[in-house]
Amino acid sequence: MPQIALIGRQNVGKSTLFNALIGRKKSIAYDQPGVTRDLVSHQFENIEGNFNLTDFPGLENPDKLKDDRLSRESIEHALSRLHHYHLLLWVVDRRGLDSYDYHLADLLRKQHKPVWLVVNYVDDPSLENEATDFYSLGIEKVFFVSALNRRNIALLRESMVKHFQAKPIENENNLEENNAVKLAIIGKPNAGKSTLFNLLLNDQRALISDIPGTTRDSIEEVFSYNGEPLKIIDTAGLRKKRKVHENVEFYSTTRTRRSIEEADVVILLIDSQEGIDRQVKNLISRLQEQMKPLVVGLNKVDLFEKDSYARKKLEEDIEDLQNTFFEFPIVFFSAQTGKRALKLIERAIKLHQKATQKIFTARLNQVLAELKDNRIIKSNRINLNYITHASPQLKFLVFTNRERIPNNVNRYLQSRLSKAFDIADLPVKIEFRSKYGNKRT
Ligand code: GDP
Repeated sequence: MPQIALIGRQNVGKSTLFNALIGRKKSIAYDQPGVTRDLVSHQFENIEGNFNLTDFPGLENPDKLKDDRLSRESIEHALSRLHHYHLLLWVVDRRGLDSYDYHLADLLRKQHKPVWLVVNYVDDPSLENEATDFYSLGIEKVFFVSALNRRNIALLRESMVKHFQAKPIENENNLEENNAVKLAIIGKPNAGKSTLFNLLLNDQRALISDIPGTTRDSIEEVFSYNGEPLKIIDTAGLRKKRKVHENVEFYSTTRTRRSIEEADVVILLIDSQEGIDRQVKNLISRLQEQMKPLVVGLNKVDLFEKDSYARKKLEEDIEDLQNTFFEFPIVFFSAQTGKRALKLIERAIKLHQKATQKIFTARLNQVLAELKDNRIIKSNRINLNYITHASPQLKFLVFTNRERIPNNVNRYLQSRLSKAFDIADLPVKIEFRSKYGNKRT
């Protein structure tokens, strides 16, 4: 289905246009600086075709937002999603452009997608003659509309229909690929990465790899698991046996670092006969720092004897790690027999869904209010003024009266938030800001 993005700066009448296009009051006017908003999306149908229209948060010049990092992040996040769309509708205000609009024009052009400029507040045709400025943005297709008076809205809709009739979406799977959850399978040599990968390749319950554009030799492979598109990163590294010397820190190889960076979720394989060592600890510490969701797969369980001491010891070591870092899920499995191997994938998908959820400010502040009278908070004379979720990751900003927050307070807040929102299995970060706007971690 064609995916259309509605983008524009604050106060250009974007929400009104969204409502006019879908013919209903779905998007509330929300062009409010400094607040992260979810993308509002609506599917509309007519005889000629179906579309999905997504209303983006109001963009603003980052320089004007100054210290408002939250807003900057929400804008960056929104912009990073533009490649998911087939058509970008860019709304501007008839009353003028400034340098940021030219910057946006550049940025939108770089997406290599069709961009249409929709000049709003043109209530009267005579105003169109004054609006020649807009052509200087270098956007070929320009519409003059009044969202409020529904002027030229029908024309805009018809043009959309015609556009997609003339240029049907070539490969829906490309979009699917873009939406795929990206998984990196990492681990020391001989942990069983290639065996797991081959198992996934051959397991028809889990994987269909006939998505066009991906071949057996490509570096990334798109699969689907229960209808959920998945992308396994660096499959070349998983297929060919790598000659990595045992004592090389495996996470510090460029290849592993790159895979981690790109991944939505990291699957770390450990040979359960080998157990946990310093390298594993270092790696988990880094993943926590990078806020990467992690599933630990303990491979080769078929080699354990029943109720063995070795297995108990491993369980204890893992528990220590979970207490030190965060309570990442673990799966005991066997890549060779396939036992519980799909659980790894299931857990990874669930984690991704959790990690990308939006946690609402009202609920967060409710939880914060409950902590205000706690002994740790009081004895440190900390006023917890306000908390907000700086998505897309599980990062929270807490506004306080103090410039420096002791580590134990940070840990306390982290653990309370993790419990309250059931996210203890994910890396969570809190950044503190004093009312002076200084950032302290
Ligand atoms: P990689 O270096 O991480 O890709 O590891 P491989 O997938 O090549 O596996 C290393 C060795 O461990 C191979 O000889 C595999 O057959 C073996 N292996 C992998 N998974 C299992 C398992 O679940 N049980 C047993 N017994 N052996 C396994």
